Amino acid sequence: MGNIIDGKALSVTVKDEVREQVAELEARYGRKPCLCVIIVGENPASQVYVRNKVKAAAYTGMDSRLIELPADTSEEVLLAQIRDLNEDPAVDGVLVQLPLPKHVDEEKVIDAIAREKDVDGFHPGNVSGLWLGKDCIVPCTPAGVIRLIDSTGVSISGKTAVVVGRSNIVGKPVAKLLLDRNATVVIAHSRTADLGAVTRLADILVVAVGKAGLITGDMVKPGAVVIDVGMNRNAEGKLCGDVDFASCEPVASWITPVPGGVGPMTIAMLMKNTISCFLSRM
Ligand code: NDP
Repeated sequence: MGNIIDGKALSVTVKDEVREQVAELEARYGRKPCLCVIIVGENPASQVYVRNKVKAAAYTGMDSRLIELPADTSEEVLLAQIRDLNEDPAVDGVLVQLPLPKHVDEEKVIDAIAREKDVDGFHPGNVSGLWLGKDCIVPCTPAGVIRLIDSTGVSISGKTAVVVGRSNIVGKPVAKLLLDRNATVVIAHSRTADLGAVTRLADILVVAVGKAGLITGDMVKPGAVVIDVGMNRNAEGKLCGDVDFASCEPVASWITPVPGGVGPMTIAMLMKNTISCFLSRM
């Protein structure tokens, strides 16, 4: 039977660490870190994420601003807003909730955020920093995945890690972080010929695809640590991951649930990143 990794509890631990840091930073520098979140339009899922981010900031005691722009906001107006925040000395972190409406070029928007305020770690300067092993802001979800694995006490070094999914925001950075921790890393994707044969190699299996129930128990090596990044809605509208929990949990040594696994940790690591951005500007 797999042990369940309680991402919710771990996220509270991380947010409590941040809360202490916020108090120390305020005492030392006379102001609190400030996270600014921009949302464009009314995508219901994005609204939930944004609300949770602002709520987490309040929990840690840091300042936050929420800027809500209508769906028809032009790219120029959004870019001008970002430029203002880049120049605002009271703002440490700027996050634009994705996805953006189709008429806005997401890449241009990500590039416009000042690298030192890029709490999501998506700016090309931070991405290159990650791959070159330089000081950078690490994307929140991948950083949360590593912290979840570390919480099990299982050492990453020397293990075979398989990452399913190769997106710029999850799969690739997770793979690089695992490599940095001396895992032997395999990245699988939609063209992988025999996914089960690959995932069965994994001592550590991280799945970030967006397909409910893609990974079943027969695809998991007995004793593996399984981290499910996926967030999908099943036929009943219930939130579920990419991993079929019922069949994988008996095979794994440790496994994250959905909800209550990677999701809360992503937000907790965003709080950590806001502290890093604050410190880099001091
Ligand atoms: P993307 O759609 O950008 O990437 C999905 C990846 O999965 C691609 O690399 C794709 O391969 C691969 N893939 C698709 N189908 C298969 C398949 N049948 N077998 C193997 N690989 C496949 O998604 P994201 O990385 O942005 O997100 C992945 C999931 O994680 C989503 O459910 C998302 O909602 C969730 N997520 C959760 C977060 C959290 O905080 N919990 C944060 C971010 C994302 P290819 O490259 O070949 O197309």
